Amino acid sequence: MLILTCPYCGVTSEETEFHGGGEAHLKREGPGSDDQAFEGYLFHRENPYGVHFERWRHVYGCGKWFHAARDTQTLEVFGTYSAQVTTPPEDLLAVIRDKRPGWQWRDLA
Ligand SMILES: [Zn+2]
Repeated sequence: MLILTCPYCGVTSEETEFHGGGEAHLKREGPGSDDQAFEGYLFHRENPYGVHFERWRHVYGCGKWFHAARDTQTLEVFGTYSAQVTTPPEDLLAVIRDKRPGWQWRDLA
């Protein structure tokens, strides 16, 4: 069971109060992109056994979308943050690097 904290209203709850929205920080491809880039945007997703960044929505609360960083192996949630940013906050990345030495942020944008 995941325990998430909504960064907007501050409610901490089990994942059943939230709804997962897939991988975070995807680069949106539009009409001017080539076929390979558009295919990647539509169909290719990361599926790591470890640190992962995801979109979540607080469906039974404030209704807002946010991002969460968690470990898919241990289910440890490193933190949540606004969905209005294109990269995770540096303080959250530092927490992850402390807990998972050798891990590096890979900017997909
Ligand atoms: Zn909320």
